[in-house]
Amino acid sequence: MKNWVGEDFLKQILAAKKPAHAYLFFGSENSQKEEKAKQFATSLLCLEKNGCGVCLSCKKIKSGNHPDFRVIHPDGEKIKISQIRNLKAEARYGPLEGDWKIFIIADSQSFTEEAGQSLLKILEEPEGEIIFILTAPNPSSILPTLASRCQWVPIQPSVQEHDSEKNSAWQTLLREMPEDFLKFAGNSFEIFEKASLLEDYQENREAIFKFLLSFFRDLMVIKSGWEDGILLEKFQRIEKEMADKLTFYDIQKKIDAAEEALNYLNHSGNFRLVIENLLYKIKT
Ligand SMILES: [Zn+2]
Repeated sequence: MKNWVGEDFLKQILAAKKPAHAYLFFGSENSQKEEKAKQFATSLLCLEKNGCGVCLSCKKIKSGNHPDFRVIHPDGEKIKISQIRNLKAEARYGPLEGDWKIFIIADSQSFTEEAGQSLLKILEEPEGEIIFILTAPNPSSILPTLASRCQWVPIQPSVQEHDSEKNSAWQTLLREMPEDFLKFAGNSFEIFEKASLLEDYQENREAIFKFLLSFFRDLMVIKSGWEDGILLEKFQRIEKEMADKLTFYDIQKKIDAAEEALNYLNHSGNFRLVIENLLYKIKT
């Protein structure tokens, strides 16, 4: 099963050896976006061009000793200007061993304004063979000027396939839910009706919210032009139809609402209230 979006696309980049100067890998906390960024960088620098894991370059990256590969994390709460200055000083030399010099800037939502402006300059006039890979929860969570300079790569979290042997009521419910959403106007009566129905599936609440989250993320994936990378292939037609009708912003709101709902449940929120709140927020 595919567990991260953009895999095919990134393979094409590796085959063509023409990466962009800046990428934004975005996804929720458990999407392992930093790990994926590292895999991508490893493949670009790998002597076999596939992230073999055993060549000298792969080994150096693994042990943190590759001169052309750096990962930058926030210093405390923030990514600071001094960090970007150091990065720029290092970037000036270009790659020392590989074809590229690659900087991963993790948690790019934590840029100070000043540091962001400083990075922007180098993104606007990229020097030589330098590649930046920013990671963040969403494109909207980083400075817009930075986001617009990057190629966006949505990263889906790995999810377990729902148990397909059992054909229980709540799974039927999940199967029908997407079709249902197409017609969902979100008036108070509908919300009440749906919330009452879902309330009966209290014990499967986590699966239901996770399903919704995957569904909404797929919409974002389709909207970003990565159709190959969706998770819920069974719902591709419906997802496409919905994605066409929605803006990035609409979809982002739905993703936020589903993430928030999951989060509330983890803090043992009242299921009924969480559902009503979610339904209210995802109406279009
Ligand atoms: Zn290798």
